[in-house]
Amino acid sequence: MNAASPIYLDNNATTRVDPRVVAEMLPLFTEHWGNPSSLHRFGEAAGERLRAARGQVRALLGAAQDSEIVFTSGGTESNATAILSALEAAPRRREIVISRVEHPSVLSLVHHLERTAGYRVHTIGVDRLGRLDLAAYEAALSPNVAVASIMWANNETGTVFPVEMLAGMARRHAIPFHSDAVQAVGKIPLRLAGSAVDMLSLSGHKLHGPKGVGALYVRRGLEFQPLFRGGHQERGRRAGTENTAGIVGLGKAAELALANLGDANTRVRALRDRLEQGILRLVPDCFVAGDPEARLPNTSTLAFEFVEGEAILLMLNRQGIAASSGSACTSGSPEPSHVMTAMGVTFTAAYGAVRFSLSRYTTEAEVDRVLDALPGVVARQRGASPYWREGDTAARAMA
Ligand SMILES: *Cc1c(COP(=O)(O)O)cnc(C)c1O
Repeated sequence: MNAASPIYLDNNATTRVDPRVVAEMLPLFTEHWGNPSSLHRFGEAAGERLRAARGQVRALLGAAQDSEIVFTSGGTESNATAILSALEAAPRRREIVISRVEHPSVLSLVHHLERTAGYRVHTIGVDRLGRLDLAAYEAALSPNVAVASIMWANNETGTVFPVEMLAGMARRHAIPFHSDAVQAVGKIPLRLAGSAVDMLSLSGHKLHGPKGVGALYVRRGLEFQPLFRGGHQERGRRAGTENTAGIVGLGKAAELALANLGDANTRVRALRDRLEQGILRLVPDCFVAGDPEARLPNTSTLAFEFVEGEAILLMLNRQGIAASSGSACTSGSPEPSHVMTAMGVTFTAAYGAVRFSLSRYTTEAEVDRVLDALPGVVARQRGASPYWREGDTAARAMA
């Protein structure tokens, strides 16, 4: 392989579409372009492929029935649909429970509802390792709560919440439970059948599928209110002609992710650990952000003291290495990440956060190239940083 070919370690932002996914999608444009609602053979051909995709997504989630899968335009729509459906289903319940580290697609929506519709929002905090405050969560659950929405895995740190337990706690209070599992699906095994999870969001482009397509799992029997009304697509749960090519791509991506789950938790995890251990050994004054006991196998977020993460990223980018300084949605803003802030990470370390997120395409040679490049990048940036010169002398001596 060309030593200078670019290295992509930003897979929590989006992933490369698997060529096998593209191959499955193409006939939906060229041959099977019918409307799946049509009763003629053109419609049937598209409809058959839609049915197959629903089964593939159900299998990845370990859900009981294909009909529990509703296709959407992605994670953001799935999250909004789940939360707004629960609120509409229980109009007298005026409280919502979320965590402080949710994705902006949940946080902004819920805070908007708080401001404009008067909902009371319980925003549950996390500790220094990013673990949810279980006592605060339990205390927030009451008959006034319309929905509890807690993410399965955090996009910035990879921290995995004990979602099955959280869902069980909500169920004991008869509160519908939703999880934004966009980062968890395809990375860790899930088994929704028999769990207390009522709704779950996933997105195609985070698991080597196409952008602009996702799904919402809705447990059978749960009262549901659609976000879009109109045609009877998706059994009346999501109106609008289906994105058939996208859905077929998502189905194939789900099938491949299920087949690759073992690899994700062995080979990819080992590469992530090699990267992380190497960085901790080679770069002074940095630490891992997130829960070492419960973390996605592909994610490593490191906080580098006395240096800006953005500066590290720019220098890495020049060497053909792509990573992230946290969530893509907030980069460019002067505020440190809400996740780092929630964890109580110091101001300077939060600014020095860099997220490496691997995929099944990541190789050992790529990890080693990062380990070659990063120590020099950090040292040079620290030499240029005012924090560093004013910082502790031991650190300065190493620059
Ligand atoms: C990417 C992401 C989303 C948004 O999904 P889209 O399909 O891009 O709308 C939601 N939640 C989490 C945790 C994510 O990482």
